[in-house]
Amino acid sequence: MENLMPQEVLELFDLYNKNNFKLYLVGGSLRDLLSERQIMDYDFTTDALPSETKSILKEAKIIDIGKEFGTLKIFYKGFEFEITPFRKESQYDHRKPGKVSFGIRLKEDLERRDFTINALAWSPRENMVDYFNGKEDLDRRIIRAIGDPKKRFKEDVLRLLRGVRFAAKEGFSFEKNTFLAIKEMSGDLKYISRERILEEFTKIITGENPAKGIRLLEETDILKFLFPRSSKLKRYTFNHPEDLSLQLTLLLEALYKDVQLQKEHLYRYPYSKELRRQVLFLLEHKRDVLLDQPYFIRKNRAEFGNENMERFIRFKENTGENLSLYKKSLQDVLKEKPCLSIKNLAVSGKDLINIGIPPGPLIGKSLEFLFDEVLKDPSKNKKEILLRLVTTPPYNQRFFE
Ligand code: ATP
Ligand code: MG
Repeated sequence: MENLMPQEVLELFDLYNKNNFKLYLVGGSLRDLLSERQIMDYDFTTDALPSETKSILKEAKIIDIGKEFGTLKIFYKGFEFEITPFRKESQYDHRKPGKVSFGIRLKEDLERRDFTINALAWSPRENMVDYFNGKEDLDRRIIRAIGDPKKRFKEDVLRLLRGVRFAAKEGFSFEKNTFLAIKEMSGDLKYISRERILEEFTKIITGENPAKGIRLLEETDILKFLFPRSSKLKRYTFNHPEDLSLQLTLLLEALYKDVQLQKEHLYRYPYSKELRRQVLFLLEHKRDVLLDQPYFIRKNRAEFGNENMERFIRFKENTGENLSLYKKSLQDVLKEKPCLSIKNLAVSGKDLINIGIPPGPLIGKSLEFLFDEVLKDPSKNKKEILLRLVTTPPYNQRFFE
């Protein structure tokens, strides 16, 4: 194990030892180390209280990030660590403990953790500390709650989603009772905030194995909770974990026929404004038969940007439609020098006033009209052409009558 760890991490263990404290690597970082994945963030647990950690790590920059849990974020020689003292939790409210106590043993700290694979601890001195057969479950690729699954999920319902996320990411299966408890308790997700649900759900559909994550959400009935009144999940591919908007749209398409129900989901959970806009763009334009016309592409590109036009292709690719025309038009349009808004027109409001159009609402209307003409034919975006357009029939009659 030591040879898989950077020198700086080993130094940390030494520093605690010298000061007669214990320090252990725990949680996801240990899991990742054992599955030979690159470690993103190192989590440690220790018998030192936060004030003691602060005096052990004098050189490091330290921020208190979870005061109630005693978690410290440590910036040490270019690394970021999270160090939390051993803690025991009680009086849960379906999500968080109402009471936290410190000054306990390692075993009690590990016992409050959710799954056996997350309850391993490691230090150079003691090697693997494994009270709940976490190593065996890790080797056998099993997600198992520590203790009675129902009791553990009742304490904190978010663990249902964490379980699915780990099973998907690691490609593990559930131990039977853990699975049955998740399924039975899926409706209890109503006790926790939609922000927290969305956070976990997002990690599942944008994580390493989203298709498996979605299948597990279906099998555990969590999908029904997240997407009420949905039809049976269509066998779609969900192969765009790099793009939450697209992934969510594909899922909405696989679950609902009715756009209204799709929108309800979008507004029930606290998605960002930008994400809603992107998803709605796809949902509302998916049947647009004119979408391969350059005019439509230019118009939507001006309103929604290149990114959304390209996402549209990736979205439609999943529906099996023939997209060659659309792709060709999009390529052509993307090569054009874009006129993306009224501001890019070759004429301004002032120019129009100068040629005699009365100041007021007519100016805005004329500019909009010219912008639309330019979207139809970008070569018209020249001052003399546009001025001619507004001053000659049939257009000028609209403005000067
Ligand atoms: P990742 O960082 O990939 O999300 P992780 O296992 O490190 O996975 P964290 O949320 O960073 O998860 O938490 C670190 C550890 O704290 C977990 O491994 C687990 O032991 C414990 N833990 C975190 N959240 C909970 C929870 N809701 N209930 C019980 N234990 C938890
Ligand atoms: Mg972690």
